[in-house]
Amino acid sequence: MGVRNHLQRIKAAAREPGLAWDRVCREVRPVYRGRGTCPICETEVTFKATREWFRDHLFCSGCGSIPRERALMQVIKDWYPDWQQADLHESSPDERVHRVIAASDRGISSRLSRECPGYVASQYDPDTPWGELDPTGQWRSEDLEKQTFPDNCFDLVITQDVFEHIFDIDAAFREIARTLKPGGAHIFTTPLVNGTAPSEQWARRRDDGSIDHLQEPEYHGNPMDLEGGSLVTWHHGYDIVDRIHDACGLDTTIVLLDDLTRGLKAEYMEVMVTRKP
Ligand SMILES: [Zn+2]
Repeated sequence: MGVRNHLQRIKAAAREPGLAWDRVCREVRPVYRGRGTCPICETEVTFKATREWFRDHLFCSGCGSIPRERALMQVIKDWYPDWQQADLHESSPDERVHRVIAASDRGISSRLSRECPGYVASQYDPDTPWGELDPTGQWRSEDLEKQTFPDNCFDLVITQDVFEHIFDIDAAFREIARTLKPGGAHIFTTPLVNGTAPSEQWARRRDDGSIDHLQEPEYHGNPMDLEGGSLVTWHHGYDIVDRIHDACGLDTTIVLLDDLTRGLKAEYMEVMVTRKP
């Protein structure tokens, strides 16, 4: 980010009421600032965090990515160096990837869609018939639990922080396994907030479609619903590996990277790699 842009942000923050001064201070004196090489930009950048919670606030000056996106990119490159030749399905990418991609160079989805000719994005979009492109042609409408893709059609399936919002995770894991080619993989992030404690279901869908809140309702930002956010349905732990195996028979490796020189440091940084033999 250029100095001018930086100053404009400080000025904008100063004009806002309430916490403005606090925000100005954070911009001027961030929690962390350091140089390094971004796995997405592939160039030397500045990583800067204006808040203690690195997971959402340790940004790359080049692509605006956050740590889990950089970890995902690093794992894709390490495990599938030929990813640019892959038939790749990304479910529910950040909405910014749908804007003119050439003009928006933010984060990992943008790079995957730009450099991978076989990239297909899908969104859970009940307003568009399942399996069809939305009117702008930017994504295909898919229910991850009941996909319309044929069997064995993808080398890679990518999901970023999606599995904590799905009701029937077993069905979604089975469907992803079905659509993977032999030798393919589902590479994904979801916060393993329960760690070594068992996963807990947070909300479930009743047979009549209504929602049964098993715990205090919790919402995260949702690219398709910027105001409402997505309901959290699961608090996952490391036992997600067993869950996936029980659901679809595939083995999963949990990869945890920790390297500040590549901007890889944050809470809940695990990347899961589920491989189809
Ligand atoms: Zn970057």
